[in-house]
Amino acid sequence: MIKHKFLFITLVVVFSFSISKISAQRKSKNKPLVEKQNALSNPPKLVVGIVVDQMRYDYLTRFWNHYGEGGFKRLVNEGFNCKNNHFNYAPTSTGPGHTSIYTGSTPSAHGIIGNNWYDKEIGEEVYCASDDNYSSVGTASDAGKMSPHRMNVTTITDQLRLHTQMRGKTIAIALKDRGAVLPGGHTANAAYWFYGKDEGNWITSSFYMNDLPQWVKDFNTEKSVDKYKKPWTTYKDINTFIESGSDNNVYEGLFDGEATPTFPHDIQSLWNANGKYDILKATSYGNSITADFALAALKAENLGMDAITDFLAVSFSSTDYVGHKYGVNSKEVQDAYLRLDKDLERFFNALDAQVGAGEFTVFLTADHGAIHVPAYLKANKIPAGYLGSEEENNKFTEFLKYTYGTTDIVKNRSNGQLFLDHKIINNLDLDLKEVEETLAKELLEYEHVDKVYTGHQMWQNQYTKGIPYILQNGYNQKRSGDVLVVNAPGFINYSITGSTHGSVQIYDTHVPLLFYGKGIKKGSTAVRTEIPDIAPTIATLLGISFPNGTTGKPIVEVLE
Ligand SMILES: [Zn+2]
Repeated sequence: MIKHKFLFITLVVVFSFSISKISAQRKSKNKPLVEKQNALSNPPKLVVGIVVDQMRYDYLTRFWNHYGEGGFKRLVNEGFNCKNNHFNYAPTSTGPGHTSIYTGSTPSAHGIIGNNWYDKEIGEEVYCASDDNYSSVGTASDAGKMSPHRMNVTTITDQLRLHTQMRGKTIAIALKDRGAVLPGGHTANAAYWFYGKDEGNWITSSFYMNDLPQWVKDFNTEKSVDKYKKPWTTYKDINTFIESGSDNNVYEGLFDGEATPTFPHDIQSLWNANGKYDILKATSYGNSITADFALAALKAENLGMDAITDFLAVSFSSTDYVGHKYGVNSKEVQDAYLRLDKDLERFFNALDAQVGAGEFTVFLTADHGAIHVPAYLKANKIPAGYLGSEEENNKFTEFLKYTYGTTDIVKNRSNGQLFLDHKIINNLDLDLKEVEETLAKELLEYEHVDKVYTGHQMWQNQYTKGIPYILQNGYNQKRSGDVLVVNAPGFINYSITGSTHGSVQIYDTHVPLLFYGKGIKKGSTAVRTEIPDIAPTIATLLGISFPNGTTGKPIVEVLE
């Protein structure tokens, strides 16, 4: 009996030893799985979303040799570069851009079909972020009457707030109201934007709060923004800017009161004629002002200081103002990116110091690209130019009168779309589909109009590639127009100086997408990615639900 008992114990000991050995082997075999499981409960302390307004992909490569190690290069060299990243809808403009980045969807789902659009229900033009139900906070003007109420879906920032029982903070910052309001989502703790004119202050809406926090009041009172009331000079010797055109040329706009579009721009003498504090928005300094305020927010709001993930959404708007005035090929644009690179370095260093290197995750992208100034392209024998001449407009007016006896049949023309008056069409006993087709055929006759589609086509087909796919992703059944016009590549309705955007063309859709930090692999891909992929990628990294209108998919190559 004793002998048996001893044998039994020995067997048990040997047996359990072998089990633990086997399970140890299993553990080591499945190590990646175990690590992934750990990552599910180990998110970054802070996610920083950076949108650079009007940043083309080639601004990374064109100015590469001028960048320092701590800004754009830090994200590219130590993070993941999606080199072939595109907007998959039009119009490619700021409101739809920021919304699509943060909602993982396109205007067809989220409803932000332009910066401004014709609201079919009320028969008036509306602005994407305006909301008269709220009042301004921090300004005597109406510039604070904003909210995200026209955005029909949730953002990645909303999902993080829901996931953390509202314990994770969201703060959104941009010079432009729409660059802050839309990324912040419906549940942001705060969104701040800049009011220029006589004030030069960071402001918000009563949608978020009834009074500015003390740190924002202090920031405004200190008037640190006044240090940028100085001549706009180039960050480096202008003679080293061999990646851009000559400083004095006919493709660039002017500040009021300026004789040539050349450095240095004397901000002080131009101040009163150019909207006072508003002039800073259209200089490289506007991005530095944004970085200053983002750093103040990081500190005062204790972002990324505990285990619950916070979200800081920052949009740099000045690159867009500078691009619109001076164009893609200007010394001013080059300076804006070189100075932004320094501001990013300053920002990343502050994140290292406060949150800890390796404890935060960053993505950087743009809200749209931009076209080379068509007059410059034309001067270099590339097909390009301008549409919308008075002659063409008159021709179209005559056509409407002759065909329908009234011009009222077209209620509005905006964002490349015609909005028709369905009541008039009914009263005239006309068929909407036939009217759409008639107008489409007429418009296609106009020089440099390249393609025209109808609302009925958008309703009845499921496009999967090419320009119809891009148009359909931008087409919202409740809000969009009835005829969709696509100009030939290189042709725009715009002033003959400066660059713009908004089209389906590749120069407006191709923008950077960089990921960096916790949970992100080092590497790059030239496989096509699309803007709505950003939010689901970040959601997967955080282990939270996708925004409720998501149409994109996680970019798996990016994630550890
Ligand atoms: Zn713009």
